[in-house]
Amino acid sequence: MTAPDGSQLKHGRLARRLTVLSGPSGVGKSTVVAEIRRAHPEVWLSVSVTTRSPRPGEIDGLQYHFVDDAGFDRLVAEGELLEWAEFAGNRYGTPRRPVEERLARGEAVLLEIDLQGARQVRRTMPAARLVFLAPPSWDELVRRLTGRGTEPPDVIERRLAAARVELAAEKEFDVTLVNTSVQDVVHELLVLMAVRQ
Ligand code: 5GP
Repeated sequence: MTAPDGSQLKHGRLARRLTVLSGPSGVGKSTVVAEIRRAHPEVWLSVSVTTRSPRPGEIDGLQYHFVDDAGFDRLVAEGELLEWAEFAGNRYGTPRRPVEERLARGEAVLLEIDLQGARQVRRTMPAARLVFLAPPSWDELVRRLTGRGTEPPDVIERRLAAARVELAAEKEFDVTLVNTSVQDVVHELLVLMAVRQ
């Protein structure tokens, strides 16, 4: 299967089935992903590991694997993460093995990760397709980020700062989808992933 350094994934055609969905916090990535989960359970979505606490309604193993700092350190040290990044004071990472196993079987894989993670995937798997989810406008993004009501003001401020930087990264991506309608974005994403609808 995959060489320990991931070279088959890096140089082979396997990574072409890897789609990375990224974009500023609050743009609606997780809503898009939730809709894919609901309407297209046949699409395999990577479940990330995070050190952040679960939000109300989040279930361990479904939206995320919730781990403590020591657990995250261990995964990094053992090379178990395909990519990882620190975001707004917490760490997030993609477990390597389930992704590599599915790609090796030729199955489509979708990652929903932040910009730093998308850049790491670009470096380690250049054949992956990077999709940027853009807000209809900056004002709409601010409205969504402040309207969620689940985060304290300092966290929202940090997320807005990150969003400003992330919006400027659009040009690094292969495709931009503007999130005017969740249904439209899901449809376009599945077309890109060549998933039958
Ligand atoms: P949230 O805390 O709102 O669920 O996620 C915060 C940010 O972390 C989002 O931009 C989300 O895309 C990103 N994220 C989630 N999982 C991962 C991951 O495994 N790796 C990276 N690099 N970012 C992630």
